Order: sequence, then C-alpha cells, then structure tokens
Amino acid sequence: MAIYLDNAATTNVCKEAAEAALYAMTEGYGNPSSTHAIGRTAAALVDKARKSIAEAMGSRPQEIFFTSCGTESDNWAIVSGLKARKFLGKHIISSQVEHSAVIKTIEALVNEGYEVTNVPLQADGSVSADDVIEAIRPDTALITLMTINNETGGVTDIAAIAKGIKAKKSRALLHTDAVQAFLKTPYKLTELGADLISISGHKIHAPKGIGALYVKSGVVLPSFLKGGEQERGKRAGTEAVPLISAFGAAVDAALPTVLESQQHMAELKKLCVDRLTAEIPNVEIMKSDAPHILNIGLPRLRSEVILNYLDGKGIFISMGSACKLRSRSYVLDAMKLPKEVVDGSIRLGFSRYNTIEEINTFCDSLKEAHDSLFKAPR
Ligand code: PLP
Repeated sequence: MAIYLDNAATTNVCKEAAEAALYAMTEGYGNPSSTHAIGRTAAALVDKARKSIAEAMGSRPQEIFFTSCGTESDNWAIVSGLKARKFLGKHIISSQVEHSAVIKTIEALVNEGYEVTNVPLQADGSVSADDVIEAIRPDTALITLMTINNETGGVTDIAAIAKGIKAKKSRALLHTDAVQAFLKTPYKLTELGADLISISGHKIHAPKGIGALYVKSGVVLPSFLKGGEQERGKRAGTEAVPLISAFGAAVDAALPTVLESQQHMAELKKLCVDRLTAEIPNVEIMKSDAPHILNIGLPRLRSEVILNYLDGKGIFISMGSACKLRSRSYVLDAMKLPKEVVDGSIRLGFSRYNTIEEINTFCDSLKEAHDSLFKAPR
C-alpha cells in the first residue's frame, strides 16, 4: 500500500469532490451564463461552491473570485493590486521564500521599474511583522507575504502586519498567499485582515486547476483576464463548473471536522519529530507551527538518494517545492542553512487521511535508509 506524505505538493481528490465533478460534467454541463434550465443548473453549482468557500474563509460570497489555480490568484493579486495602488508608488515588500508564482511575478515587475524590499527571514522561514512594518514607506503600494511557507511550515503573523499597516496609516494593499494555509489554521483566513488572499483547490483534496482569490469588499481590483463578464466582470472565461463544484464539495467535506483534522496532522507531525529525533543521530528537524508541513535535514546524505530509497518502499515524499523539480531548495538556501543540511533535506506534508501506522512505517524506513546509506561507500 502506498504511503503518501507529499500533501504539500498536492493531495488526493476526496470522494465527495470527485462525485461533485462528475455530476457537474454529466448533469450540470450547461454554461452558467446561459439562461435556460441547464445553464441555470450550472450557475447554481457555481453559487453553491462560492458560498461554501466563503463560509470556510469567513467572507461574503461576493468577495470570492474563482481562478484557474493558486498561481493565477497570486499573479492577479500582485499585478492588479499594484495597479490599484499606483497613486502610492512602485515599492513592494515581500520575501525571498515566497512561492515562485510570487517571486517570478515580482521579478518581472522589477524589470519594469518597481522596487522590492525582501524582509529578513526567521529560523522557520517566516518573517517578523515588526520587520515588515518597519520596511513600509510612503511609496509602498503592495505587501505580499505567504501565510504558511510550503517548504518549512513557518507561519508569518499576517494579522500583526495588517494591524501595523493600519497603525502606520499606510494605504498599501496586503496580499497573502494562503495556498498552504487554507483549512490548516484554527481561525478563518479573513480574520487575518489581509485585502487579498490566494487559495488553491488541489491542496485541500479538490482537483488541480482550480483556485480562488478573496478580494476584500471595498478593494477595487482591476481585472486580470479580459473578456466576458464572468465573475462579475473581474475574471473572464467560462467558469470551470466541474472543478469549482469539486472545490466547494471538498470544502464541505472538510469543514465539519476541520479542527480535528488539524489536530490529527499536528499529532502525526509530533510523532515524526519525536521518533526521528530519538532514533536518527544528527537529524536536523526544522521547528515550525504549521500542523501539516515538516522539513527534515539529514546531513551528509543526499535528498534524492533518500527519496529514491523510500520510493522503492512505496513511501512518497519530496525534496521541497514541487515547482522546483530536482533543483536545490532556494527557500533553504535563502535561509542560509548549511549546505550539507540543504543537500540532505526532505519535506513531509500530512493530510487528514494519513494514519499513525503510516508515520511509524515512514520513521522505520527513514531510519533504515539512514543506517544503510550511511554505511554504503559514497
Ligand atoms: N503558493 C503556494 C504556497 C503553493 O504551495 C503553491 C503550490 O505548490 C502555489 C502557490 C501554486 O498553486 P497552484 O499549484 O494551484 O498554482
């Protein structure tokens, strides 16, 4: 039986989401813009999903805009957020450990004359709210920082940053990439006080290719994709009804036990930390507050060798961000971790479907891998 511990890269689609997608494809296949009954059925599916996601976010349904993925949400928030605050200036505050959807978008903007301040990193890859607030200038137009880092599980205090922006009387927009945080925090994400929040379906047991952007009421965000009047004229393109419906169904399936699931994941993480610390000498465990992400360094071993060993045993983990296939982790490098820790780092991502038995098997296998690889001539 496969043991899947790569849930920060993507998750299995839950039964409820798959059924919702099938229903939308076979029964609700109309175009939500069509006024006839089949079109209205499709529109009702989109409305229902929007309400479910809004409830999970703590927002109003009209503040949720569907996109094709977390990457699109990030691109839209940054590019259009800066347009919305053009009158302030061209200064952006961010960090070097953001997802590449943020880093690459900012890089392109810097080439067009924007200026970025990357705030310093803390030991878990998060940033300090004080540093962010101190970096705010009169010409700061946008602050974009992730809520939970996808490689380290470090949590940035977005709520404190939102308060600091207000206290400084800055009109800069606050965007947070909460792709790894959606349904993984004990509070609803809008309580953070950000203006723009990116989320993605495939990290919460919905299919790939569906995301959303929360746009706080009152923020006038220019559209990113131009065309039809879908999503109240803000995001053109015929709605991906099966994916949207599946996203809503995945949220509905998760929400009633969301806190128990978080606790379960945190217990799995703790079990891993306790066992590996006790059983593998020199293991580097990165402490972080997210319940579902754990970064482990095995100095003097190489990540890909460990991954291959575990793969052979049917245990699936990763080296870090799936988007940086086979390259060194720029996140751990930016955090200035010793080279041998970065070279031997692996990332675990837990889900509510993982069990204690799976974690015990993983720990047994990692110890076995460590002991046998360590002995092998390199
Ligand atoms: N932001 C973070 C923090 C992520 O972990 C990911 C996915 O790995 C993304 C953005 C991109 O989301 P998507 O794969 O839906 O484009």
